[in-house]
Amino acid sequence: MCVQCGKTIAPDANVCPYCGHDYRIQAGPPAKKKTVMPVIGGIMILVGGVLSLVAGIGLVASVGAFDSLMLVDVEGVDMLEDLMTACGIIFIILGLIGVLGGVFAIMRKHFGLAILGGVFALAGWFIPALIGLILVGVSKDEFE
Ligand SMILES: [Zn+2]
Repeated sequence: MCVQCGKTIAPDANVCPYCGHDYRIQAGPPAKKKTVMPVIGGIMILVGGVLSLVAGIGLVASVGAFDSLMLVDVEGVDMLEDLMTACGIIFIILGLIGVLGGVFAIMRKHFGLAILGGVFALAGWFIPALIGLILVGVSKDEFE
């Protein structure tokens, strides 16, 4: 049956003989529309991840530098150093996942990981990573 005029036609007909409705154009799913949104979003998430990574490495490195300057061990300082090192490691991990998420967003792959990376990249560069996250979120259909 023809979807346009409702008349009975051959199931393998390319064109409806009654109304001329062309079935060849309908063949196959329509191509995915690609926008630049996941790419821009991915770059913002990527930069957020890199900044978080740099902040984490800087924090850990500064603890190491500070430690080598200290001639005597002070208990309070040691605790502070441990806290800074722990924070630095957390920033490094968040940054790495942020970078990974940004790359996936640019490639339009692994939507879930791209979003996760975007959330983690908030630690490095809050507002741009948030915008990136929104851009990636609204272009979900473009992901494989
Ligand atoms: Zn027809």
